[in-house]
Amino acid sequence: MDGRFDVAVIGGGVVGLAILRRLAMAGLSCVLLEKGADILSGASKGNSALLHTGFDAPHGSTELACMQAGHAEYLSIREKLNLPLLETSALVVAWSEEERAALPGIVAKAHKNGVKDVALLTRAEMHRREPRLAASALAAVLVPGEHVIDPWSSPLAYAHQAIAHGAVIHRKAEVRGAELRGGAWTLSAGDVTVEAAIVVNAAGLFGDHVEAFARASPFHIKPRKGQFVVFDKPAARLVRAIILPVPTERTKGVVLFRTIFGNLAIGPTAEEAEEREAGTCDGATLQRLQARAIEMVPDLAHVGVNAIYAGLRPATDHKDYVIEALPGRNWITVGGIRSTGLTGSLGIAGQVEALYARHFGKLPRKPAPLWTPVPMLAEHDNRPYQQGGDIVCHCEWVTRQEITDALTGPLPAGDLGGLKRRTRAMMGRCQGFNCGAEVRSLFEKAPHGKA
Ligand SMILES: Cc1cc2nc3c(=O)[nH]c(=O)nc-3n(C[C@H](O)[C@H](O)[C@H](O)COP(=O)(O)OP(=O)(O)OC[C@H]3O[C@@H](n4cnc5c(N)ncnc54)[C@H](O)[C@@H]3O)c2cc1C
Repeated sequence: MDGRFDVAVIGGGVVGLAILRRLAMAGLSCVLLEKGADILSGASKGNSALLHTGFDAPHGSTELACMQAGHAEYLSIREKLNLPLLETSALVVAWSEEERAALPGIVAKAHKNGVKDVALLTRAEMHRREPRLAASALAAVLVPGEHVIDPWSSPLAYAHQAIAHGAVIHRKAEVRGAELRGGAWTLSAGDVTVEAAIVVNAAGLFGDHVEAFARASPFHIKPRKGQFVVFDKPAARLVRAIILPVPTERTKGVVLFRTIFGNLAIGPTAEEAEEREAGTCDGATLQRLQARAIEMVPDLAHVGVNAIYAGLRPATDHKDYVIEALPGRNWITVGGIRSTGLTGSLGIAGQVEALYARHFGKLPRKPAPLWTPVPMLAEHDNRPYQQGGDIVCHCEWVTRQEITDALTGPLPAGDLGGLKRRTRAMMGRCQGFNCGAEVRSLFEKAPHGKA
């Protein structure tokens, strides 16, 4: 037995890590089991990294409540964790008369959702803000509170803070067996076996499979793929705000947005997918995305593409998140956190803490919070190389020290992908052509590193 805990969280995506942080900071003894070689092996690996206000979310939904609580908490803790914020705002742009007619309804919905600073812009006001937008853009809704964050440093910071509060994280620990006996669960996860009074299912794209340990799953995951095209850094100068389309019932649509790493990207698509492990890209879709970006901002025709990627949303047959406690089963379900979980994660964690307190007993007294800042990776902020050091990745200005640090500490990178997400190494213009061999060699020499 590898320990007895108050709570075991299954799944080390952004949602599981935010929950782990919250419960550990509440004074509970917690363990997290993640099947990947590193955290963020599922949906949380590839998203748009927008910090949403919830202006267009279904009114009265759990998703809206979690997003708004998550947005507010992110802003209140980010400086203590050294997490960035690219204050972009967003414009919902109408490209046809029909879309223009929908804009007042978007403002009304935003106000109903409590996002009161959302306002209509005339065509002239919109083009004054975004002079590079195509002339075919007719009008827009301004959403001042939508921003861009770092999709990987935030969950890493939540993990570090949870560990500082005593939580344990096991990777390469896929839960394959779970048994509730005598008021506690025994979870078998590869080489690891733990006992926990309460289990939280935060298994993302595999949430329905994991739910089957507790009951017939009330939701079924229907992965929805999103592909992205990332333009070279000069493109980021062409647009300031996040450019959103007028949303439809099914999707928020394809978005043009600056990334925290200094690029401009377009995506995601919304495609029903069979795969659950990793999203694949296809040439025709990527070409369509690139062409759409050029239609929106014609100057993009002169900027090259830097990278492509795809992510998988853990969508379900439900319209809302599924967050509930099963008191008779010592279980908390957190399922179907599809397209807003990066924003919603801290709010979801708050809901899980409340469910725990309501159904499973009083929370211990909260210890004073310990703050565990992570390295700053945002292009617009102070980066470590600015203090000097030996550069390994020349595209993204990553120092040897940053790589060494990411391979040590409380949660060293568990695979090459994890090392890239912790440092930006190999993610620039050459995609690792120049530094890849050296980065791989540093990884393989590290105590945790294996090819
Ligand atoms: C294309 C796209 C764009 C998006 N854009 C945004 C955005 O702009 N803003 C925003 O807020 N959100 C966005 N999202 C949503 C966000 O990325 C997801 O909501 C979030 O990542 C879901 O996190 P999760 O922790 O629930 O799931 P996951 O990240 O899938 O985590 C679940 C983890 O559980 C592990 N696991 C599964 N089964 C087991 C098992 N049996 N044992 C142990 N571990 C297991 C998996 O390996 C995985 O690491 C986007 C998502 C996508 C795909």
